[in-house]
Amino acid sequence: MTERGLLIVFSWPSGVGKDTVLRAFMPRCANCALSISTTTRLIRRDETDGVAYNFVSREAFESMIAAGELLEYAEFAGNYYGTPASWVEEKLNEGKNVILEIELRGAARVRELRPEALFVFLMPPSLKILEERLRRRGTEDEAEIKRRLKIAKEEIKLGESYDFVIVNEDIERTCGLLAAVVSAAPCHVKYGRDALREVLKDA
Ligand code: 5GP
Repeated sequence: MTERGLLIVFSWPSGVGKDTVLRAFMPRCANCALSISTTTRLIRRDETDGVAYNFVSREAFESMIAAGELLEYAEFAGNYYGTPASWVEEKLNEGKNVILEIELRGAARVRELRPEALFVFLMPPSLKILEERLRRRGTEDEAEIKRRLKIAKEEIKLGESYDFVIVNEDIERTCGLLAAVVSAAPCHVKYGRDALREVLKDA
């Protein structure tokens, strides 16, 4: 029987450099599958439907919620974002490590439903750098940048609830640390408790 894969949750404030990190990291992550979320946000000019996200209407998203098709979902900056439940389950059963890239409320929901998942928080070196990155990418207007910065401050306060925290200073360093976390993940005490108890049961 194939051993089930691990569920690994990455969270990072908007503007940390998610796309750059994932583009560099995923090809190096053997046996990992990145979940494609569904969202109601407008597609950006550099995005393709079905690649980073499946873009749907609010009505379609609400039908998915009603049908129980989402493992978790959250409203972020006025739009819905959610993780497809059946796809995640299928990949875990195939023995793939499934990576979810989701914001903190969704991650908290996954923690309740799947306490065995591993949680990695990626943060910017400073709020000033985060603001510069958000402005440089030029995909949000001023009000949206302010809204995302406010959310980012709240999110960073909650980073302590994660298993790992990585500061994204340099893409190579970040990819190296993420790879180290994923390869060391099976040794996390979350998965080693049973083995410890098993060895001690006759002591
Ligand atoms: P963006 O609009 O910048 O692509 O993403 C905004 C936020 O939504 C990011 O923090 C991203 O991690 C989060 N996000 C993306 N997909 C999902 C999802 O399926 N569920 C939840 N809860 N958050 C998501």
